[in-house]
Amino acid sequence: MYKIGDSVWVINYKQENEWITCPSCNGSKFVTVIFGDGTHVQVNCGLCDLGGWQGSTGLIMGKQYLVADPKLEVITGINVGKKDYSGVSYVTYYFDSIGRGEDRVAASYNEAVKKGGRLEQKLTQNDEQELTARKKNVNKNYAWNANFHLKAAEEHERKAKYHREKAKIMELKVRKPKDGS
Ligand SMILES: [Zn+2]
Repeated sequence: MYKIGDSVWVINYKQENEWITCPSCNGSKFVTVIFGDGTHVQVNCGLCDLGGWQGSTGLIMGKQYLVADPKLEVITGINVGKKDYSGVSYVTYYFDSIGRGEDRVAASYNEAVKKGGRLEQKLTQNDEQELTARKKNVNKNYAWNANFHLKAAEEHERKAKYHREKAKIMELKVRKPKDGS
């Protein structure tokens, strides 16, 4: 751990957001869901549907991290956080009013460059994991929706059969007196 007044190399990065082609529908806004009986149905892509009025857009927000050249700065404050469940306590170093975690400071320039590379990798990996989780969730919804509609269709077919039979019986009852006369 460093002390107040220590000079350390600080790692800074910039996050750049850019719209990229949706990896689920390849920008077409539609995906094909295949039912158990082999029926193919086209539905709106859930991954690039951002919940707005426009529905599926065929685009998702891609993130990029640009790590800057490390800068030598003097620590002006330190804050040691509470221990988390794994017994690790987080340290925040302050450079004037800007706080940086331990993953953002290094003792030497070379170490800072290495740490910066690792940080970029970690951030990119986190984004990829998040996207994979979202994809899984969206796919689950397709299956859920398909099941819901299939069940609803079956229920309606069952009811239709019941009502058709009832109607037939009613028809017979209505006809009876006519036949008898
Ligand atoms: Zn899409």
